[in-house]
Amino acid sequence: MTRPADYAPPFRPADYVAPPTDPEDERIEVGILVVGAGPAGLACAIRLGQLLEDAPEIRERLGEVPVAVVEKGRQPGSHLLSGAVVNPRALRRLFKGRHRIEDMPFYGPVDHESVYFLTPSRKLRIPTPPTMKNDGNYVASLSQLGRWLAERAEESGAMLLPETPAEKLLVDGGRVRGARTGDKGRGRDGEPLGNFEPGSDLVARVTVLAEGTQGHLTGVALNRFGLAGENPQVWALGVKEVWKVARPLDRVIHTMGWPLRGGAKYREFGGSFIYPMGDDMVTLGMVVGLDYRDVELSVHDLLQELKTHPLVRGILEGGERVAWGAKTIPEGGFVSLPKQLHAPGLLICGDGAGMVNVPALKGIHYAIESGSLAAEAAFGALQRGQTPWTPGALAAYDDAVKQSFIWSELREVRNMRQAFGRGFWLGGALAGAMTATKGHFPPGDRDTERDSEQELIRAGGARSYPAPDGKLTFDKLSSVFASGNKTRDDQPSHILLRTDVPAEVAELWERMCPAQVYEATNGGVTVTPSNCVQCGAITAKGGRLTPPEGGSGPEYTLT
Ligand SMILES: Cc1cc2nc3c(=O)[nH]c(=O)nc-3n(C[C@H](O)[C@H](O)[C@H](O)COP(=O)(O)OP(=O)(O)OC[C@H]3O[C@@H](n4cnc5c(N)ncnc54)[C@H](O)[C@@H]3O)c2cc1C
Ligand code: SF4
Repeated sequence: MTRPADYAPPFRPADYVAPPTDPEDERIEVGILVVGAGPAGLACAIRLGQLLEDAPEIRERLGEVPVAVVEKGRQPGSHLLSGAVVNPRALRRLFKGRHRIEDMPFYGPVDHESVYFLTPSRKLRIPTPPTMKNDGNYVASLSQLGRWLAERAEESGAMLLPETPAEKLLVDGGRVRGARTGDKGRGRDGEPLGNFEPGSDLVARVTVLAEGTQGHLTGVALNRFGLAGENPQVWALGVKEVWKVARPLDRVIHTMGWPLRGGAKYREFGGSFIYPMGDDMVTLGMVVGLDYRDVELSVHDLLQELKTHPLVRGILEGGERVAWGAKTIPEGGFVSLPKQLHAPGLLICGDGAGMVNVPALKGIHYAIESGSLAAEAAFGALQRGQTPWTPGALAAYDDAVKQSFIWSELREVRNMRQAFGRGFWLGGALAGAMTATKGHFPPGDRDTERDSEQELIRAGGARSYPAPDGKLTFDKLSSVFASGNKTRDDQPSHILLRTDVPAEVAELWERMCPAQVYEATNGGVTVTPSNCVQCGAITAKGGRLTPPEGGSGPEYTLT
């Protein structure tokens, strides 16, 4: 019996917690530090700007830079990837009286939608499950929406620092003091090169972690302050492409079934999405739970296989792939939320906390809402004259999340993801019963099991992956190229894992990684970190992703 969890990576959270080390006059002081320029972090910065606009005396107290947002990508949006059909609820609240939905970079409302169950050559239209209905929602590229939100954040007075990964959590006297940013210009073995620039201590009154899925400092903070919930987080991997197409697609499509297998022993839970982006583009992606067991499963190649289905081939015919990317999605939902979302001087929001509604495939509006609530809680503490790092000063954030639609909606669907671990048909029936009873059935909470603890099997997952033809189907290296990744290949490896692993684990990683970072060898695995698109799957399945040098990784613009 082989499980990736038995080959734990050489990673200790404590190595990423430290007090500030720069001399006091060299530290960069900001009022509120936001880590991550995704929808959660940017909503937080925008809401803070709005609140500070009406409270000049508090703005004054926060110093020269009241709000700073650090982002590891080359620019805001470079590391953002989603479906995306967006529920506009949280955006409406954030921009009330300032911007209308029509002013935002959306490709339009969802007018029609279809859900299909696929077999290798057929499609069976099924009624849209209530959790998947998209009336009133809008299609977007999250990368584009992120760039627009970043402009609004700058307008509201936030300082945006791209190419700046937060690498260490600064903790002093039991309270979070900020974050230390990563060094630049180190060689493969960590040696400083000619252009070496050390990282800096960014110190703040409140640090808001909005790092998204597999947040590096979020994991470190959950560990340091004992915030993790009872159940471990679990993830899915999403791989997507954007195509220029010859004919407009008139509806949002979701599929279930093929090319995934339904048997309980495979634990293959997921499906595909196909969304129109205006008249001449379509985005499509495959999402698969990382609790799968077959070492031969590759989500990248399942997406290639999906495109050979008559339904999908017909949509893409005469078109051309223009972008590609991959990212994980936290899927544990309500039962895997941290037991507390704050610590002295610290708030956690968005995907980092696991705020995703899996049956609806939606997390963007939860990210925006939780970012806004984090801003309100931080501002509230300052307004009351409380020192934000006194224990409990930020507890209003937990209360606000619990009163919000994030909490009630996640609670209702809390057991759905776990049901699908019992196979597609039984899982589907249980999910139907949960929907009909608004989450009352089954009573209680179903536990999650760590993705890396699933026993591996070899079940012929690879046998039907199509050979890449460079037109409809592609290999992983051409996909990495389409992600815009230009990472220099002589930087230190940011992926921590054991390389002396059994053949099953090596093959699991090789197939799983959508960016061809791993190659199984005789006796282990070799790693090419510069291909990495920072999807986070390796952290779920037995390794540990840390933030690489700032500006590395994909340069998404349309995902
Ligand atoms: C394939 C796929 C399809 C999806 N479809 C939908 C959909 O249709 N609708 C929907 O609502 N949701 C969808 N989701 C979920 C949705 O994208 C997320 O819930 C949402 O993006 C979470 O926002 P966030 O701000 O928490 O994190 P993110 O969007 O991940 O943003 C986090 C940002 O923080 C940066 N960052 C992380 N760590 C650091 C660090 N240490 N230092 C500096 N910067 C850092 C990252 O580079 C990134 O820019 C989908 C997700 C995927 C992967
Ligand atoms: S190395 Fe890990 S994080 Fe990077 S692309 Fe591959 S699976 Fe994703």
